[in-house]
Amino acid sequence: MAKLIDGKVISTQIKDEVKAEVSKLADSGITVSLAVIQVGADPASSVYVRNKKKACEYCGIKSLSYELPESTTQDELLDLIRELNGRKDCNGILVQLPLPGHIDEEKILDEISPLKDVDGFHPMNVGALSIGKKGFVSCTPAGVIELIKRSGVEISGKECVVIGRSNIVGKPMAMLLLRENGTVTVTHSKTADLKAVTNRADILVVAIGKPKMIDASYVKDGATVIDVGIHRGEDGKLCGDVDFESVEPKAGAITPVPGGVGPMTIAMLMKNCVTSVDLQK
Ligand code: NDP
Repeated sequence: MAKLIDGKVISTQIKDEVKAEVSKLADSGITVSLAVIQVGADPASSVYVRNKKKACEYCGIKSLSYELPESTTQDELLDLIRELNGRKDCNGILVQLPLPGHIDEEKILDEISPLKDVDGFHPMNVGALSIGKKGFVSCTPAGVIELIKRSGVEISGKECVVIGRSNIVGKPMAMLLLRENGTVTVTHSKTADLKAVTNRADILVVAIGKPKMIDASYVKDGATVIDVGIHRGEDGKLCGDVDFESVEPKAGAITPVPGGVGPMTIAMLMKNCVTSVDLQK
């Protein structure tokens, strides 16, 4: 039976550490704050935004809330970001995605100051990660690294395989595993023999966006399996990209869905808010 990597427990540890740091900063007169911008009222986005604000409250981070109508123009949103970029009382800026179709997401994300880009999506931060400089790291892959390390799994020298090469998960995940001295292979939809590659993995990170696609036949005995995927099945239950029932008996350690990677993303966002104070010094 695999060891269960509990994202709820580890994310709470991280939020408690953030809370302590935020309180220390408050003692020296510094308030940590995060601007959360939502355009329109997409129900899934509203849930994410609500959870982010709740986490801010838990950690003692001040959230500046901007709930803008669907009709907001690109120029209006750019103006708001420029205003927040210049405000001393705003450390982090988060624009909840997806944005309505009439707004160019890339243009918006590029306008956020790299020093306030707590999502780690700005090209400057992506570049900083790839050359090992200080900066913000995308929250989900940063959370995966914390899950692996805090579960006592060694990354250095291990065969690490990432399934998926998105800018938000797969690519930064590969860079982070490399930074931890893993031997990293990135796979994608054009990989010729996916199973042959994944069966070499001591650590397998799955971010493929296909419900339960990865079964035991993709997994080496005793591997650590991290499931980034999140889907709601027809039965209303959440599941990941990994077929948990099939893989769990074969893996050495595994994350569940829900309760694995999901809670880590918000915890790392909170951690990035504290980092923002440091970067802005
Ligand atoms: P994307 O759809 O952007 O990327 C999926 C990747 O998987 C692509 O690189 C694609 O390859 C690859 N892929 C697709 N099909 C195959 C296949 N048959 N074999 C090998 N590779 C394949 O997804 P994201 O990276 O944004 O997200 C991945 C999953 O993680 C989703 O389920 C998403 O919901 C979840 N997620 C969860 C988060 C959390 O907080 N828990 C946060 C972010 C995402 P190619 O590039 O060739 O098309």
